[in-house]
Order: sequence, then C-alpha cells, then structure tokens
Amino acid sequence: MKKGRLIVISGPSGVGKGTVVKALMERDPRVKLSVSATTREMRPGEIDGVHYYFISREAFEEMIDRDCFLEHAQYVGNRYGTPEEPVDAMLEQGFDVILEIEVQGGLQVMQRRPEAISLFIAAPSFEVLAGRLRGRGDTDEEKVLMRLQQARMEYLVAPQYQYIVVNDRLEDAVSDVQAILRAEALKTQHQQHLLKEAL
Ligand code: 5GP
Repeated sequence: MKKGRLIVISGPSGVGKGTVVKALMERDPRVKLSVSATTREMRPGEIDGVHYYFISREAFEEMIDRDCFLEHAQYVGNRYGTPEEPVDAMLEQGFDVILEIEVQGGLQVMQRRPEAISLFIAAPSFEVLAGRLRGRGDTDEEKVLMRLQQARMEYLVAPQYQYIVVNDRLEDAVSDVQAILRAEALKTQHQQHLLKEAL
C-alpha cells in the first residue's frame, strides 16, 4: 500500500486552523489528525485521548527521555509534543497525517522529516486577526495583545513553510489546502512509475 503523507499545519491563535483542519477531514476520509500530548489544563468540552493526551510534566519528561516524540515544544508556559509511533502507524496504513502544531515544533518536523508538506495558515491581515481574537469574547486586552505578540513571532517563522494559505472564507481555505495536496501528489517525483514503463 502507498504510504500516506505527513502534513504540518501551523498558524497563529485565532486564525481558525482547527476549523480548517476539521473541514478538511470531513471532506477527505484519508486525512487523519495526530493527537498530541500536553501538560496544559484540560478545557471544558475537551476529552482526554481525543483532543490531547493530558499528561503531567513528569510523564512528559519521561516521554522525552524515551525518545517518544517526533517533536516537542513549549508554548505559553505549557509543553506540547507529537508522539511519533502513532503517526508512523497511520502513515504506513496509507493515511495522510496532519500535525496541527506551533512553529517551533513545525521547524523540528521539517528538519527530521524533509518530505513533510508544510502549510502556514495566515489571516487576511493582522487587523483581522486582532479583531478575531477580540471577538472570541476575551475582553482582557492584555491577553489579546500577548496573543498578537505571539502571532508576530509565528509570522517571523512563516517564510520557512512551503505554503501560506489565507483563511478569509473557510471554504476557500479548505479548497486551497486540498489543491496543495493534490498538486503535491502530481509532482514528478511521485509519478516516476508512469515514466519507467517507457524506458
Ligand atoms: P492549545 O493549547 O490552544 O490547544 O494549543 C496551543 C498551541 O500549541 C497551538 O498553536 C497548537 O497548534 C500547538 N500544539 C498543539 N499540539 C502540539 C504539539 O504536539 N506540538 C507542538 N509543537 N505544538 C502543538
């Protein structure tokens, strides 16, 4: 069976990357999302083992020591990591696997798995992003400014990604991601078998 592809998706808080990923998975059953481990508190509505594996700092350290992570990073005081084994198992089964991770982890994956497809989801403008963060009902201006500062840092790393997808209209953003995945599959390096017959 043909192996699946590893897809890194990053983007600032408030850009709607989770919504894009969810819509993409609804459209394409061959796409699976990796479940990360994190030390952060569970939020209302989140389910352990579905949204994240919520683990202690000690357990996280132990996973690092056992080299269980494909990548791991710190984000606003909490630790996040991608368990490597389940990702490889899904790839072997032919699924395309999405890692929805922040940029430090994204860079690690690009280094360790150069074949990974990397996408950065951006807002149409920084003003729109600020508006979305405020519109989340978070009236704490200081928190909004902190998230914007974090977003600026992420935008600085964005040029390292292969693609930038703007999430203005959700439908368009999902179609753009699908177009990228389709074009990647058509790259000459993945179509060698068609040429070999003639040689
Ligand atoms: P949240 O706490 O809001 O769910 O996620 C905070 C940030 O951590 C988001 O940008 C999310 O994409 C990122 N993140 C989630 N899981 C991982 C992971 O396994 N590794 C890394 N590096 N970042 C992650």
